[in-house]
Amino acid sequence: MLTTNPFDDDKLREECGIFGIWGADNAASFVALGLHALQHRGQEGAGVTSFDGAHFHSHRAMGHIAGNFDRDEVMRALPGRTAIGHVRYSTTGESGLRNVQPLFAELAEGGFAVAQNGNLSNAMKLRRTLNRRGSIFQSTSDTEVIIHLVATSNHTTSLDRLTDALKQVEGAYSLLVLTPDGLIACRDPLGIRPLVMGKLGEATIFASETVALDVIGATFLRDVEPGELVLVNGSGIRSFRPFAKVEPRPCVFEHVYFSRPDSVADGKSVYEVRKNIGAELSREAPVEADYVVPVPDSGVPAAIGFSQASGIPFELGIIRSHYVGRTFIQPSQEVRNLGVKLKHNANSALVHGKRIVLIDDSIVRGTTSVKIVQMMRDAGAREVHLRIASPPTRHSCFYGVDTPERAKLLAAQMSVEAMRDYINADSLAFISIEGLYRALGSERNDQQPQRCDACFTGDYPTSLTDFTEKESAGSLSLVASR
Ligand code: SF4
Repeated sequence: MLTTNPFDDDKLREECGIFGIWGADNAASFVALGLHALQHRGQEGAGVTSFDGAHFHSHRAMGHIAGNFDRDEVMRALPGRTAIGHVRYSTTGESGLRNVQPLFAELAEGGFAVAQNGNLSNAMKLRRTLNRRGSIFQSTSDTEVIIHLVATSNHTTSLDRLTDALKQVEGAYSLLVLTPDGLIACRDPLGIRPLVMGKLGEATIFASETVALDVIGATFLRDVEPGELVLVNGSGIRSFRPFAKVEPRPCVFEHVYFSRPDSVADGKSVYEVRKNIGAELSREAPVEADYVVPVPDSGVPAAIGFSQASGIPFELGIIRSHYVGRTFIQPSQEVRNLGVKLKHNANSALVHGKRIVLIDDSIVRGTTSVKIVQMMRDAGAREVHLRIASPPTRHSCFYGVDTPERAKLLAAQMSVEAMRDYINADSLAFISIEGLYRALGSERNDQQPQRCDACFTGDYPTSLTDFTEKESAGSLSLVASR
């Protein structure tokens, strides 16, 4: 069995990351660097497609950017001044090279490469219709549906054909499309998944997160707006808004966990928002304790915020090893359990005899929380209080995030008190949905929420044609203690 981070195995998995550039020599090299900064959004496969003005060139591989796109022979085979790329964690379609993006097709009007971050919630229905009309699919990815809709569109320009296709899909998508007509970036009308635009000299760049601009020395220009298509080519940069305007609903989980803390999402520093969440949590669920301890690494900013607001010292009570290989072989359950200690170990000298507030970003299945609390107890902690920097995750995500089925979400099955008992913590509390919005600097409008928060509330912002699961928002308590 292969493992990654034993703690991260019990997280919602980031969806995908995309990066594109128009107008730079060795465009593919910039894409590889940008994708490297987005590696946390998908580690299963990666791909880059470039266009040299006459031909498209593509390389796709399973695994990370490093090891695949740092080889001279690979990069030399991706010439051109424009390129797009993708890092992937499979959300629809099985794992495997044929689903690694960018997907590419030779259409009647020329080559068409597409990289998507998101998930179409009516892809299966559209696919059945396209199949009946004779479309032959090469992958099981929902992104390929877009290619077939473009291929069968009656419109003439790439932009119009893409617009025609996107008017038939529902769900969440941020897209980069490369055609002989130029590079097109677009975000779904609700702006569920992020996409930013930047500049490096004369080159125009698009990326899932601002951190990818930072690493290549590019300047952030602005977000691609929800419902906007941006076309970049030799005639300049043009913006189109072909969809009916709706109130945006960007994914709130980008701030909780997905985005890197050094990114700016929706104009807000992810790091600052996470600190605010910790501060809100300390006000909503105070506890007497000796130390605030983050579950590394994602719990760190919220733990700093909790510590600063409560006055309880921040300490590293769990130490993460950075030298555990991703492919560490764990032949038996006994040895697999050791994996947790190999990657993370309690700082026993610090926590022994102390009352600890543990800060984590979320609870999904709860398996990790059980192990961490036990790790603290084994290290001699007198009390272990768990504080979670998001509301209980009670619903699945259908917008490009890998969530276990609802039956496996701990908070969908148990009250907070039952979870506390299961996890064996002295107390357990989650930030409220109102507290989460306060941390983002707003107040939740229950009639018209400003963000997608469906995994907490069950309030999905689109129809879910392909999914039959019946979700309903819970109203259980957010705090429990012994
Ligand atoms: Fe983000 Fe949750 Fe909405 Fe999915 S359901 S887009 S993870 S807020």
